[in-house]
Parts: sequence; C-alpha cells; structure tokens
Amino acid sequence: MAVDYQSLAVKGVQALSPYQPGKPIDELARELGLEPSDIIKLASNENPLGPSEKALAAARSALSDLCLYPDGNGYELKRALSERYGVGMDQITLGNGSNDVLEVITRCFADTESEVVFSQYAFAVYPLVTQAIGARGVCVPARDWGHDLDAMADAITERTRLVFVANPNNPTGTVHTAAAIEAFLAKVPERVLVVLDEAYCEYLTGDDSPDGVRLLSRFPNLIVCRTFSKAWGLAALRVGYSLSSPDIADILNRVRQPFNVDSVALAAATAVLADEAYLERSREVNAAGLKQLAEGFDRMGLKYIPSAGNFIAVEVGDQAAAVYQTLLQHGVIVRPVAGYGMPRHLRVSVGLPHQNDRFLDALAEALTAGGEGG
Ligand SMILES: *Cc1c(COP(=O)(O)O)cnc(C)c1O
Repeated sequence: MAVDYQSLAVKGVQALSPYQPGKPIDELARELGLEPSDIIKLASNENPLGPSEKALAAARSALSDLCLYPDGNGYELKRALSERYGVGMDQITLGNGSNDVLEVITRCFADTESEVVFSQYAFAVYPLVTQAIGARGVCVPARDWGHDLDAMADAITERTRLVFVANPNNPTGTVHTAAAIEAFLAKVPERVLVVLDEAYCEYLTGDDSPDGVRLLSRFPNLIVCRTFSKAWGLAALRVGYSLSSPDIADILNRVRQPFNVDSVALAAATAVLADEAYLERSREVNAAGLKQLAEGFDRMGLKYIPSAGNFIAVEVGDQAAAVYQTLLQHGVIVRPVAGYGMPRHLRVSVGLPHQNDRFLDALAEALTAGGEGG
C-alpha cells in the first residue's frame, strides 16, 4: 500500500497552511497577458523607491566573490549595526530575513509542552512557526485592531515561553507607545521571553517613539527583531536580525544556520546603513503616501485603520474578495487579509504618488462596478 506521507508529518505541520505572500508581478503578467511594467504591486510592504544606490553598488562588488562562502559571523554588518544602535556585536543574531530569526527563536525556546502568546490580527508568521514546532498558540483578542497588551500579559501561564509583540503591527498598522511597551514588559515574568518585532520602526519619528533597543538593558528577557526588507529597501536579499542579551544571542546562534545570510546581502545591508539620505527619503515618501491614501479613502467614504507602517488596511466591505480581483484586472496588486480574520479589509502598501493615485482610481472603479454590496 502507498505510504501516506501526510500522516507522517509531525502533528503541527499536518494542519499547517503555508504563508500566503503577495502575488508576484510576473505571475499576474502571465495570467493577464500584461507587461510586467504595466503592473503595480502594493502588496508586500516593499519600499517603492527601489534599492539604495549605495546598497546596489556594494551588492555588485560582492558578486565577484560568489564562489566563496559568506562570512558566517557577518562581522562587517554586525559592526555597523553595533555602532548604529549602541549594542555589543555579541548581542546580534543575523537572519535570512527577520522571519528566519523569528523561527530560530521559537525553535530555541518552545517545544510541544509550551505555549506561545500572540495577538489576534498579528503577523501571520507567529502562529505559523508556533504550530510548526507543535507548541500551543494562544491568540489573544485584539482591542481596536491593536494588541491588547494587558490581556496578553494576563494570558501568560506556567507554560508560556514566548510572547510575540509586533510594534507597529502588520497588517493593521497599529502601534503602542514607548510607555505602553515598557509597562507591558514590566508585567511579564523574566522567565518568559518577549519578542518585540519592530519591522516598521524606521518609519516612526519623534523622540518618544517606541524603541526596543533602549529597553534591552532593563529587560533581559527582551528580544528585538528588525529587518532590512522595509524602510531599508532590501526585501529581495533577505536580511534581518535580532538584538538581545549576549546570553540569548549565544543560544540563537547555535541553531541559526551557519551561512544564513549570503555575502551579497551582507554587503548591501552594511552599505545601506550608511545611506541616511535613503532612509530619510523612505520616511518622507511614506508619510506623504499615507496621507494621500487616507485622503483618498476619506473622499470615497471608506473607513481605514490609521497606520504607523508603510501600508494601510482599508475597509471595503463584504465584497473585498471581488474588489481584490477587480484591482488585479486593473493591474494593481494589493493584499487580501481574510486569512487574518479581516474579510472586509484589503491591505495596501504605500507606493509612489502616481502608484497611489492609480490604486485609488482603480479602487473607486472597482467599488462602483461591484455594486453597493459592501
Ligand atoms: C515584513 C515583516 C517582517 C520582516 O520580514 P523579513 O523576513 O525580514 O523580510 C517581520 N515582521 C513583520 C511584522 C513584518 O511585517
């Protein structure tokens, strides 16, 4: 009899659905017979500026060494991060995207006996990595689309090993103040690790912005995760990292694959950290785009969740799936979030001004075409 390999997979994996990424431009081009250049993708919170010239130059010059293994310790990148954020190099763990780090953390600290706490409407990778290792995910109901930090603290039990907090959160864009994060950390027992996912922190401005790095010395159970995929504009290269106590970093580095960040990625990420002008432009384009999108939604009478990230979740109603499809026909890719339990919303990433306009026009048409169902 044929072997049923499905039944051989470990329990958590049997019930797992894969992460749903944004639809790639080339895929839609093939499906619709369009030119890729006629399609805009506002589906994966990518940086609409394109990569930094400095990062590109560094990536190009790294190409001549493709036959060599990368520096498994990522010395230059760690040194640059260490200088920028005022942390020791021994506090840094590099990842193939911060998704990699999130997974390594979970594998290091949770097992089938453990509970892992995260919020409703939080980043999909938290339940995914939790379930993959067979731990029990504890999903705490959100409050006004954001994390209910008090309820999350209350959800901690003897079995809890990890709590994931995304600040700002994806896909809702909600953010907690520095004071709220601090008050939360003060409530969490030291034996429970808090993973503060700050994938969008570079978009926050102002002296009182939440900043996990400032809290590391006071909370030894804190792990701050960051990425080069969003404001730094290097999503294709897959580079992220965590900052933690040296003790925790030592553990993570045992499980991390030895060459998990390639040399092109290391070179580009190191170079972009020195491109302050690029980061500044990323922030400006994002702030202007968020305003443009919000004003467009206001004109259409659509509700949206105010966002601190580089994306915004807009409520288009019962017909969200149909609106998504119509937008695709217009060559505009956004992100359905029904999988997050938000079937009436679509998430749109902030683009360049003309891209935001094209999306808003297509959305207005899609909503008219779809009738008044929503
Ligand atoms: C985009 C994102 C990440 C980062 O993903 P990478 O693997 O670094 O590309 C992590 N957390 C959240 C909440 C995100 O939205």
